[in-house]
Amino acid sequence: MKITLNKKIAGITLLVLAVLNFFIWRSVVAAGADTLHVHFFDVGQGDAVYIRTPAKQDILIDGGPDNSVLAKLGQAMPFYDRQIELMILTHPHADHLDGLVDILQRYEVEQVLYAGVEYKSAAYDEWQKLIASKNISTKIAQSGQTVKLGEAKIDILFPDHDMKEKTIKNLNNSSVIGRLNFGQHSFLLTGDAEQEVEKSLLDQFPSDMLKSDVFKAGHHGSDTSNTKDFLATVKPEIAVISVGEDNKYKHPANSTLQTFDELGIKLFRTDQDGDIECLSDGVELSCS
Ligand SMILES: [Zn+2]
Repeated sequence: MKITLNKKIAGITLLVLAVLNFFIWRSVVAAGADTLHVHFFDVGQGDAVYIRTPAKQDILIDGGPDNSVLAKLGQAMPFYDRQIELMILTHPHADHLDGLVDILQRYEVEQVLYAGVEYKSAAYDEWQKLIASKNISTKIAQSGQTVKLGEAKIDILFPDHDMKEKTIKNLNNSSVIGRLNFGQHSFLLTGDAEQEVEKSLLDQFPSDMLKSDVFKAGHHGSDTSNTKDFLATVKPEIAVISVGEDNKYKHPANSTLQTFDELGIKLFRTDQDGDIECLSDGVELSCS
């Protein structure tokens, strides 16, 4: 009787400790000064990814289809910080570009990285004019570049050639692709790049350069991207689909959802889960 009771107490104590351990680890990851934050904003049908590094640099990759990114950024960034160290435009389609025009009008942007492709749209013209009038330094993205952000870094994996002022037939395939690394963790961000580009990444890079813990699903989860071969190499634990509810493109594709499911990839969707934030201290990773 006594032994049983002791066992029970020991069992309960272990359970309590396990629960406490979980919450303590969560708070360590959540509140540490050495934490990398990666936000996938719910901006409807579009992409807007905001990164805050442990060294307090702010990076915005795409701005979504309208000015809703302003409110999202206002909540995620400290109110006193009006400076964005790096803005990356993956490609100038409206669902990635338009919100970046509003950002340029309201924030101080230090540097812009983009493919520099030729594309006719009023918003792209305005975006480029704002960059020029504010004397913001620009850099043309090309594979092999590395953006150093303290202990974090972004390796640029695509475009694999200079696309400056070139007209690209399928603009999605001009997407700037970056792999963010911090400690033991990697995040792969492929914009709207389609299967041709996924294949060329598989051909050009060893698998350990593509392997990532978190993958932002290509092209809003469309079946033009997210091939099984590519995902089997990236091997993400978590995928995030940035997509609008009831969008006219019917993104994400059922076949994509099935591929994620078959590969056992945990899925988040901005249309169902809202804003998604991943935290890493270099050892522990959590997304919610
Ligand atoms: Zn898009």
